[in-house]
Amino acid sequence: MCLICDRIGMIKNGTNPYFVRELETGYVVIGDHQHFYGYTLFLYKHHENITELFQLGKEERLKFLEEMSLVAEATSKAFGAEKMNYELLGMGDAHLHWHLNPRRKGDIGNYGNNGAGPVWWYPMEKMYSDDNRPSTEELESMKDKLRIELEKLI
Ligand SMILES: [Zn+2]
Repeated sequence: MCLICDRIGMIKNGTNPYFVRELETGYVVIGDHQHFYGYTLFLYKHHENITELFQLGKEERLKFLEEMSLVAEATSKAFGAEKMNYELLGMGDAHLHWHLNPRRKGDIGNYGNNGAGPVWWYPMEKMYSDDNRPSTEELESMKDKLRIELEKLI
């Protein structure tokens, strides 16, 4: 009963349209909603009893963090971020996964602290509106852009 395990299952059987690339410790996927254009996730490969970074062995933890950083750099270059935001949350799905959001000035409108603040200060119903879902063509184009930048760094 984990949405992320379900999505990884779809990657493994070739039916996840958001899948970009497999790395050693995780999978790179484009986010379902693109209010923050270029929103990308990096999903840790395993779940089982692991729900915290500090539960990983040191070598695995450093590799996961290094790969997340590479994904963030590729995302920034592919989609033209002014600043990257990195978040590992997990009260919804405890499965380790990074939210990598390219940020640009004005992207939360006047919400937050006069337009400044984390992505989560933008109203959920706007962030997750169907208007923000990429079309099939947009999604393919985004995946290509991100793959090209990832290949340069790996
Ligand atoms: Zn899971």
